[in-house]
Amino acid sequence: MLDARLARRLELAPGLPTLPAAAMRLVELGNQPDVGTADLAEVIGKDPALSVRILKVANSPFYARRREVTNVRQALVTMGMNAAVTLALSFTLIPTLQQASEQGGYDRQRYWRRSLLAAAAAREIGRRQCLMREEDLMLAGLVQDLGILVLDVALKDEYRQIAAAAQCHDSLAAAERAALGCDHADVAAWLMGRWGLPGHLVEAVAGSHQVALDVASPTTDGPTLLRGAVALSGAIADVWLADDTRRAADRAAQQVARALGWSAEEVQALLEAVGAAEPELARLFEIRLDDPESTAGVLEQAREALILQNLRMVHEVVEVREQAQAYEQQVRELEERTRRDPLTGLYNRDQLFRRLQDEFTGAAMGGWPLTLVVLDLDHFKQVNDEYGHLAGDQVLRRVSAVLHDAVRGEDVVARYGGEEFVLLLPGVHWQDAQRVVRRVLERVRGTDLGLKEAPQLRVTASAGLAVQEGGRPFVDTDSLVAAADQALYTAKNQGRNRLVVDPVLREHA
Ligand code: GH3
Ligand code: MG
Ligand code: MG
Repeated sequence: MLDARLARRLELAPGLPTLPAAAMRLVELGNQPDVGTADLAEVIGKDPALSVRILKVANSPFYARRREVTNVRQALVTMGMNAAVTLALSFTLIPTLQQASEQGGYDRQRYWRRSLLAAAAAREIGRRQCLMREEDLMLAGLVQDLGILVLDVALKDEYRQIAAAAQCHDSLAAAERAALGCDHADVAAWLMGRWGLPGHLVEAVAGSHQVALDVASPTTDGPTLLRGAVALSGAIADVWLADDTRRAADRAAQQVARALGWSAEEVQALLEAVGAAEPELARLFEIRLDDPESTAGVLEQAREALILQNLRMVHEVVEVREQAQAYEQQVRELEERTRRDPLTGLYNRDQLFRRLQDEFTGAAMGGWPLTLVVLDLDHFKQVNDEYGHLAGDQVLRRVSAVLHDAVRGEDVVARYGGEEFVLLLPGVHWQDAQRVVRRVLERVRGTDLGLKEAPQLRVTASAGLAVQEGGRPFVDTDSLVAAADQALYTAKNQGRNRLVVDPVLREHA
């Protein structure tokens, strides 16, 4: 966070980069909930240079589809709205920052190389972790150091003195914090926030100096992964910029291993991809590098460092992976538990409705029948009244086990309510389903309930059956359930201990 005095100084500084008008319109557009491609195409279309670049990107190998994209609207559809807004924002923002950096008192080449390499690194990490928003990753990677530019413009010599003693990016940030109480990541986030850029980008840049820890655990959300990728991207860019390449490679690999669980070989592959992507991104964002240094020497040194490190890391990485796996397992178990009814272990009502919706849609699309059975124990209240609630629970568990064992793996058995159950039998015609249910009722009837106080006690059940077949006759899952419920009601009225099928079926039979 910036203290108020520094914020005021920066605000009033002449030459502070301002958000270009086109970018401002894009930000506004991005904040509206229901913009369409037409709105965006209009904004972009007003800026011929921007239109040309968007078309170029849409036709580049990165997005290219079979057909050539010839107008902005097609380009937006090809790329997707989010990607297009972020890219257009990048295209309008970067020239402004380049202009601002012209007067800078620092090494501009170094600044832009770090930005490009970091953008490439963030994008490559995202690709490998299957994050979808590559444009966000590129933009956040690209602008993460824009605070340097701002501080230089605003504080001039004062900042140059602070920065002079710094040997590397980390020591620069440390020197800034010592002198100003915040570092250039905070400053960048502050300015981006003032510009109204999307919160996840601002946050990712704000966190760019915080070493990412374990960002790839199974529960990690998109913004956290974005933040982690950007935080790692700086360390990766520094492999090219540090005086001691081997040490920088070593450090980057350790951070990546810790955060993502990657091996030294995977880090090596990442470095190679980043090296290859740098000139591509320089062209994309039209950033001219005076001497696009060959990266071969850097990669060679990094490789040597990583081979050594591999030996040390193998052990550590295995440990990290095992931890991650154990964690994943825990999460899976927890998720499974939330789907199940604690007393019987059957699916609970929530899960039933989720599965029912899936199966209903699946049956409609696949054209197969979906049988739904509601099954209710007869006079169950009497069991509770006579033998107590615990005995009742035991009966519910026994009956649940019978239901569970009586159906196929792809069928669904759920506890619908107290002593009511639902069976979902996808792909089963009602005549076959009827046989299955009769067999189930018979088994329930014959089941030893294991009650000490009443060894001979048996229970019976009633069931109602309805089928969605050939896309008819139920418009939704609720009406299918209601039909089965109605049939169950009839079964109870007819004396219980029986199956009744939806009368619609009998008429058709
Ligand atoms: P019917 O044949 O008409 O279905 O009669 P019934 O007695 O089975 O139906 P009713 O709906 O009157 O009573 C259901 C009973 O199920 C009442 C309730 O206390 C009992 N019950 C519901 N959930 C549980 C449970 O988790 N454990 C136990 N022990 N009893 C339960
Ligand atoms: Mg009952
Ligand atoms: Mg009942």
